[in-house]
Amino acid sequence: MGRTRDSQPHNSPSADISPPARPDRRSLVKGLLIGAGGVALGGGAGAFAQRAFGEDGTPASAASVDSWMAPERQVDIIWSVNTAERLVALTFDDGPLPRWTPLALDALEEARVRATFFVVGSRLERHAAGLGARLARHELGNHTWGHDDLSRLGRTAGYRTVHRTHVAITRLTGKEPRLLRPPWGRLGGTTVHVAAQHGYDIALWSLLVQDSRLARDPRALVEGVVDNARPGTVLLAHDVGRPSRLEAIRRLPEMIAGLRRRGFEFVTVSELRQAGVRSPGRTPRPS
Ligand SMILES: [Zn+2]
Repeated sequence: MGRTRDSQPHNSPSADISPPARPDRRSLVKGLLIGAGGVALGGGAGAFAQRAFGEDGTPASAASVDSWMAPERQVDIIWSVNTAERLVALTFDDGPLPRWTPLALDALEEARVRATFFVVGSRLERHAAGLGARLARHELGNHTWGHDDLSRLGRTAGYRTVHRTHVAITRLTGKEPRLLRPPWGRLGGTTVHVAAQHGYDIALWSLLVQDSRLARDPRALVEGVVDNARPGTVLLAHDVGRPSRLEAIRRLPEMIAGLRRRGFEFVTVSELRQAGVRSPGRTPRPS
């Protein structure tokens, strides 16, 4: 599997990290042909083996294909946390970069709120001298080295991008990160496997700041966050990206004040998890 076209870090603070292209038809056809070749050469079992296990471990499979041992660990996937306490976790993705990350940090420090930053490792390394000390007061999670689509990477490349970031965060904070947020929320076998290898759980989100839709209507932008938060919500914002995201950062104090008026307190994602209760799943509803 090739690297995505967004696998290199973006240098411009205003550069958006847009989703990578879907696999094209040719690569899908090629995959089918490999399977068919297996049938011709080695019979049914060979076909399954070829299709399931690529050279670098297929991204689709979370099974341990390069050794007979699976990671001996549970990996949780978190959208939000089950809790009755009025707690929310603010999270920021894709930084740090010097232009906007300090604005987010200012607002959080002013309001005495600790948040969780899912950092791009290459950016953290480049800007650790300027921003590292302030960032380290918050929780840092892993967002890969180059904002890579883990669902399309093989296990070796997936391990590398996650591990370099793991090392950079640990060096900065003196603590190993506990959470992986896969870019674009894209999961595949590689994602789950490298998460297990690093002792991570996978942190997604349950509420998104609607900056792209509502940047020109800041009141609706703020209300969308304040009105839709629930106990255990994980809110996704960005401290880097397209210009509309700057408006969302500028509105952080209003969002925080609005949530406090509704009785919410702010915690990091790991703190939110500690407040969580394991509850039996609700009866699934078809959607
Ligand atoms: Zn991202």
